[in-house]
Amino acid sequence: MLVSAKEMLTKAKAGKYAVGQFNINNLEWTKAILQTAEELKSPVILGVSEGAGKYMCGYTTVVGMVKGMINELGITVPVALHLDHGSYEGAKACIEAGFSSVMFDGSHYPIEENIEKTKELVAVCNEKGLSIEAEVGAIGGEEDGVIGGGEVADPNECKMIADLGVTMLAAGIGNIHGKYPENWAGLSFDTLAEIQKLTGTMPLVLHGGTGIPDDMIKKAISLGVSKINVNTECQLAFAAATRKYIEAGKDLQGKGFDPRKLLADGTAAIKATVKEKMELFGSVGKA
Ligand SMILES: [Zn+2]
Repeated sequence: MLVSAKEMLTKAKAGKYAVGQFNINNLEWTKAILQTAEELKSPVILGVSEGAGKYMCGYTTVVGMVKGMINELGITVPVALHLDHGSYEGAKACIEAGFSSVMFDGSHYPIEENIEKTKELVAVCNEKGLSIEAEVGAIGGEEDGVIGGGEVADPNECKMIADLGVTMLAAGIGNIHGKYPENWAGLSFDTLAEIQKLTGTMPLVLHGGTGIPDDMIKKAISLGVSKINVNTECQLAFAAATRKYIEAGKDLQGKGFDPRKLLADGTAAIKATVKEKMELFGSVGKA
């Protein structure tokens, strides 16, 4: 079922586990993630960046594909379709198109403007029963051309945004999108603990899940993180498996050029990555 992320994240926070947000890029991606979630009886969040939405021919196409798959594949676990790092305009477009959840990334605005725009979108989402994620303190690295400096959020600003009635809050704690550099300083757990203390039961979101060591992930969950975003890791797994298939010359054997065969190993690699993450996050069997 396509649902808001509110209930699954409230349960996750109370149960000390996290729900994975896995970003989708096309049909194979979406199918692989939904099938794995169903097999493992895990709730799941499908993330769509504005760039990926454009690539998949617009938000209404994405909604149609996801709803169709939930129906055709007999998916019974809760699925949230979520705009990742949305602009103000993008969030409005996704709400209109039928997404069940949006993120408004106002972290690049001065805090007053972030608050004003977040407030307005919270009101719209509440009215429609959708979940909304806000961000304080830019996440490092690059996401679809949006460059963040890897800031550590001000816990008091987090409290201000949390009090606006958002469903979940992404706070920069030294995490970065994409691959982590060799000299990465690690997550700031002191900041996370401080944010958690001030925001109480608010589910916290950890972006840039690729390459954070497992013990840090577990510690973050113990400190109130109940949604973890995974994107790059699935891309790397898909690319490596597809490369292997082609380098082995399998596309040149028989009907190996058929896209259903050509993309099969990469798709299986996405499934394996999603399974690994759901096990690490503790969401298996929680749907
Ligand atoms: Zn992010």
